[in-house]
Amino acid sequence: MVKGELFIVSGPSGAGKSTICRIVRKQLGINLATSATTREPREGELNGRDYYFLGVEEFKEKIQNKEFLEYATVHTNYYGTLKSEVEARLATGENVILEIDVQGGLQVKDVYPEAHLVFFRTPTSEDLERRLRGRKTDSEETIQLRLKNSLEELKYEDKYDITITNHTVEKSCEELVKIINSKN
Ligand code: ADP
Ligand code: 5GP
Repeated sequence: MVKGELFIVSGPSGAGKSTICRIVRKQLGINLATSATTREPREGELNGRDYYFLGVEEFKEKIQNKEFLEYATVHTNYYGTLKSEVEARLATGENVILEIDVQGGLQVKDVYPEAHLVFFRTPTSEDLERRLRGRKTDSEETIQLRLKNSLEELKYEDKYDITITNHTVEKSCEELVKIINSKN
């Protein structure tokens, strides 16, 4: 039976995961596995496209109903991968890319040991701060929390199979495409 490959992309907030994955998914025709979150939508984000934006009670109900492949508290909000976004796609041979935090990444690896773990980081911590600020989507408080949490997240890098240091968007996209193509 043809089975799709599962790619888990993690790394500090601002490392460039969404930017690179958006381009690569489009290039390779891979559908987005939409996560659920209790965080507020950012300007321009759409429910069902960027995330399923849920209330805390609704999220907890889905935990109870075992609808999540994994979930975690990240930067004070719940985030989770719905089984419904992943299982059928893999079974029908689609590749799936999950952009999730390191705690979630390792939970998924337990369920799918054959998953490929890809870690994203910036060349320097100054680049990370500059890019987080440049995104202009987060308050100062949120930026500070994300920078603080990035130090914790970077400790997980050696548990991942491969690291992409995001120097330029073009080069990082090339690297990710190469990784995906090499597993198919
Ligand atoms: P993440 O999804 O990891 O939180 P984003 O994809 O939102 O990160 O990227 C954070 C910011 O950095 C965005 O404004 C994005 O346009 C910018 N960015 C991404 N990759 C690069 C790069 N290689 N060089 C400069 N800026 C980048
Ligand atoms: P953001 O709020 O910037 O969209 O995402 C914040 C963090 O949550 C990022 O590290 C992102 O990878 C992570 N994240 C997004 N979706 C999920 C998910 O479904 N599960 C887990 N564990 N983390 C997620």
